[in-house]
Amino acid sequence: AQTHKTVKDYIRTIVDFPHEGIMFRDVTTLFADPRGFRMAVDQMLHPYAGRRIDKVVGLEARGFILGGAVAHQLGTGFVPIRKKGKLPHTTISQEYQLEYGEAIVEIHDDAIEAGETILLVDDLLATGGTAEAGIKLVERLGGQIVGCAFVVDLPELGGRKRLEGMGMDVHALCA
Ligand code: IMP
Repeated sequence: AQTHKTVKDYIRTIVDFPHEGIMFRDVTTLFADPRGFRMAVDQMLHPYAGRRIDKVVGLEARGFILGGAVAHQLGTGFVPIRKKGKLPHTTISQEYQLEYGEAIVEIHDDAIEAGETILLVDDLLATGGTAEAGIKLVERLGGQIVGCAFVVDLPELGGRKRLEGMGMDVHALCA
């Protein structure tokens, strides 16, 4: 009998990366597989079919790969949120906490117009700190977030609860 792989079957786990005790979900194996990548992109946009979405916003760096494909399929524009200092035009910045220290992400200040509807995309939701910073940037420009789509949700790290607590609609393909 034919066995059907799910998105999760294409994701590889690397033990002790980037440091001891971390089980890193490596989605490059999902992206590298023609069926896996297409399945992931299709499933990410499935909940939003028929909804008005003006732009897809992707978080650096794997959110660019997924978000670009999702935007193409939805027929929308794509906007990157990048780490500090990478975007060439005028930006707004948002600081957020990491496990050790803090980080800053940025968006071009003219990338979203007030009232535009936005789908936020990244590969993985852990504590939700990165996504929260992205949501704040979009909302500071007047964008309305229709949903936040991820390939992987690690529920024990609390990201989903955190984003749902901000009123977000959160979708992930696997845990
Ligand atoms: P958070 O801000 O704690 O939710 O972490 C999510 C961010 O860290 C996303 O941008 C992910 O790409 C990245 N990340 C954290 N853990 C992993 C992992 O196991 N695999 C891939 N990316 C991860």
